[in-house]
Amino acid sequence: MENIAYDIIIIGCGPAGMTAAIYARRLNLSCLVLENGAPGGMMVNTEEIANYPGFSKINGVDLSLAMYDQMMGLGTVHEASLVRNIEKENDLFIVSSDEKKYYGKSVIIATGTKNRTLGIEHEKEYFYRGISWCAICDGPLYKGKDVAVIGGGNSALSSAITLSKFTNKVYLIHRRNEFRGDPILVDKVKNISNIEIIYNSNVTGFSGKPLDEIIVSNNDGSQKELKVSCCFEAIGRLPNSDFVDLEKDNEGFIIVDEKMETSIPGIFACGDVIKKGLRQIATAINDGAIAAMSASSYLK
Ligand code: NAP
Repeated sequence: MENIAYDIIIIGCGPAGMTAAIYARRLNLSCLVLENGAPGGMMVNTEEIANYPGFSKINGVDLSLAMYDQMMGLGTVHEASLVRNIEKENDLFIVSSDEKKYYGKSVIIATGTKNRTLGIEHEKEYFYRGISWCAICDGPLYKGKDVAVIGGGNSALSSAITLSKFTNKVYLIHRRNEFRGDPILVDKVKNISNIEIIYNSNVTGFSGKPLDEIIVSNNDGSQKELKVSCCFEAIGRLPNSDFVDLEKDNEGFIIVDEKMETSIPGIFACGDVIKKGLRQIATAINDGAIAAMSASSYLK
């Protein structure tokens, strides 16, 4: 059977990838979207989105499905696949998973980010067994229990708010005395009675089987133990960019120009995986639209 060569292969089905697909299909370009997880990317694990224009408040699953339906309704092909490699052969890009090869005349990388971890001793033993990165998915398992959230950005603040609704107590542990996240979320957190903020502190140990205690070390050198059933790490994100050899910054975020062009002509990147200042749904959508228009110009 002859292999189909798509005009554009989009890797990643978050807001950037889905926007790129919507723009590409409206330009009549054939478009394959490859995604390893659920459509929506980080959006799908966000309980409440209140900064996406047009909706004062919208649930992340609902927004993800609305974008997905729009994309599929325009005739996009979507396949579940974990991309391992991109190579170029003559004028075609070969995008490979462990099982399959896909052929494209251009590629848009919209693979987003993965969780950063603390990197301390014994941490790995608790991954998915007492350490979680998703308050919405795993929070309900800890109904009525005490839990901890680590971090000071929007993810940590939103996770603490989500968890406060069904757990007994949330310790929000941040390494500085000032939050990085939006003031509106900071105010909300400070007004929730079952959230206790612990500033200037790091989690330096985990114990129990299953997890029942964490060690919290203050920057002044003092330490205390806290009884918790789960620790939600929300300490930032690292790019999903290992599978492709392109120009990147020292953390692995892909470097693009204003047209979302990468260091390889014909490969574009957009959304959270690129080096940029503001990672939001609104900026991912901006990048996705530009990437599709640039891919279209490249194909001409
Ligand atoms: P982030 O903004 O990079 O915040 C990471 C937090 O973790 C920072 O407070 C940082 O502390 C802390 N941290 C980093 N490494 C640490 C370590 N080793 N130990 C302890 N603490 C550590 O990441 P994010 O909160 O995941 O957000 C990522 C992006 O998504 C942001 O652009 C954010 O605005 C966006 N987002 C938006 C929303 C929303 O708008 N509702 C929700 C979620 C995410 P320092 O502050 O000291 O550096």
